[in-house]
Parts: sequence; structure tokens; C-alpha cells
Amino acid sequence: MEDCVFCKIVAGKIPAAKVYENEDVLAFLDIAPATPRKGHVLVIPKEHFSTIAEMPEEAIHGVFSVVKKVSFALMKECDGVNVIQNNGQASGQLVPHFHVHVIPRHDKDGVHLGIWESYKYEGTEMAQARERIKKLLNAD
Ligand code: AMP
Repeated sequence: MEDCVFCKIVAGKIPAAKVYENEDVLAFLDIAPATPRKGHVLVIPKEHFSTIAEMPEEAIHGVFSVVKKVSFALMKECDGVNVIQNNGQASGQLVPHFHVHVIPRHDKDGVHLGIWESYKYEGTEMAQARERIKKLLNAD
């Protein structure tokens, strides 16, 4: 993907603060960290996939194995991590190359990462949603 910023990082055409790399996966610092402690890591497959829906199983396993490795490392110096992964513009995905955010958190760090409003199911809405999603899952 010629105009993909993360493909350019993989190809070495633009710089990145790499923290880990293997044959298929790269982890580097997010240029605009979400927390003041500034150790926010992005984990990407080297091959271009836009969203999780396009990823083969092995690619998912490869990326999440590195997400675990990075999380384990960060948790040696922080109190928790948020693992966040956006798919599609509606979810807030800005860079259309699959990536997982691993964000280090500290007790009372004052960071608010999109805490959502909660909705209530009324009547049969929950049963309807369950049926709808079960159908979608069985459609493949
Ligand atoms: P998302 O909203 O999930 O697509 O997040 C994309 C992330 O990529 C943002 O947090 C950006 O700060 C980060 N980002 C964009 N360009 C670069 C870059 N050249 N190097 C490192 N991080 C980047």
C-alpha cells in the first residue's frame, strides 16, 4: 500500500521508534501518546490489512502474541495497560492499517480513554440483539 503511513514505517521509508520486531510483526511508539508517561506502543502486522475482519488467523495470533509480550513488559513499570483496537472510521480508526494500541496506565493518572455512556436493554431488546448477532456469526 503505497500511501499507507504504517506500510511506509515497515518499509523504512519514514522513521519510527521501534521497540520490538520479528518477521511478521512490528511494535513502535505512537507519535501522539495517550498518557503523560509516554510509553504508548502500537503493534502492527508488517503485511497490510485494513481491519481485523480481513486478517487471517495466523496474522491475528502473531500480532496478539506481541501485544501480550509488550503488555507484560510495560506492566513491569506501570499499574495497568489498556489494549485498544479500532476498526473503521465509525470506531475512531484514523490509520487504515490494522494496529493495536497498548497504553500504559498508572494509578490516578487522570487519563480518560473514551469512557462510554451505558444504555439499558428494554423488553425483548437483549434477546433480539442476541439472535441478530448469533445469525451474523453463523452466516460465514
Ligand atoms: P487509530 O485512531 O486507532 O487509527 O490510531 C492511529 C494512531 O496512529 C494514532 O494514535 C496516531 O497518533 C498514530 N500515528 C499516526 N502516524 C504515526 C506515525 N508516523 N508514527 C507513530 N504513530 C503514528
